[in-house]
Amino acid sequence: MLDPVAWRDVRQEVSTGTLPGWDRVEEIVRDAHSRYSEERGGRVADYIPVLAEVDPELFGLAVIEVGGGLHDAGDALHPFSIQSISKMFVYALAIQEYGHERVRQIVGVNNTGLAFNSVMALELNSGHPMNPMVNAVAIATTALMPGATAVEQWERVREGLSAFAGRPLSLDGVVYASEAETNDRNRAIGRLLRSYDRLAGDPDEVVDVYTRQCALSVTAHDLAVMGATLADGGVNPVTGERVVSEEVCRDTLSVVASTGLYERSGDWLFEIGLPAKSGVAGGIVAVAPGKGAAAGFSPRLDEAGNSVRSQMAIGYLSRALGLNLFASAPARSHHPESVPSSAP
Ligand code: GLU
Repeated sequence: MLDPVAWRDVRQEVSTGTLPGWDRVEEIVRDAHSRYSEERGGRVADYIPVLAEVDPELFGLAVIEVGGGLHDAGDALHPFSIQSISKMFVYALAIQEYGHERVRQIVGVNNTGLAFNSVMALELNSGHPMNPMVNAVAIATTALMPGATAVEQWERVREGLSAFAGRPLSLDGVVYASEAETNDRNRAIGRLLRSYDRLAGDPDEVVDVYTRQCALSVTAHDLAVMGATLADGGVNPVTGERVVSEEVCRDTLSVVASTGLYERSGDWLFEIGLPAKSGVAGGIVAVAPGKGAAAGFSPRLDEAGNSVRSQMAIGYLSRALGLNLFASAPARSHHPESVPSSAP
């Protein structure tokens, strides 16, 4: 369970529309890292065999501002596989390609309330995938990527996610091989989608592209740049390249806000107030529209599959940097006697 005690003593700064100055952000990022560096809660994922071998002590944090300011702490440049976080960016590429309405019809926008790899979620909806951040819908979304062959579709995914990151991303071949050997469940989901006529193409090939996309190697720094691109109306704040449109950012973030942290998405939004996506290798990226993005990497996960330390550190950053989208204080001009109060 997401424990608000982790940052309850931090004053809830309200959203001002801008981040504090670079020095102050730098200081807060360092504080967030050192504050949770002794945290040992959670367990490393082991259902993909190679993930169980990772050093559980790794802990990196990064914040990228839409103005281009960069802040890294700890193991922010340590590579790990992007896993489920890829779903958010492939979803954005799909909306960019086909538009809001078409993608909504094909893959839906609602939370299933069921686990990320649920087969029931598909069966209960007559094969119509509902939540773009669970595997069934993510596999259907990957199938939408342009390309005459699976190889071309994979290239489109890799290039698209690289544009978000502002550098060429590459496949972690060891993670890919480990998952490809053990992903019977995802292959079953692919077949089920095909049986409901919800998937164009060969289901095994589509699942293979999806497995590769999950095995792309990133760092916390990369994830923060990728998230900051969605915070910056679709323009990568480091390279200046337009990756997707402003509308795509809005659509993607609204879906991720209610679905990004598996079955804990409601807890996350309630406590932290930011759209975010996590992955089972220990990454989380949270996006503050118009301001920037914060990303954490630490391999120990809670029971739902979310990095414990990354959640804590991003919770701290959300409060201390005034990122919570739902935090406000009375406008003083209307209420001269009121002053912003500390949240409990
Ligand atoms: N590649 C993983 C799977 O499909 C992603 C899991 C995750 O990060 O949630 O099982």
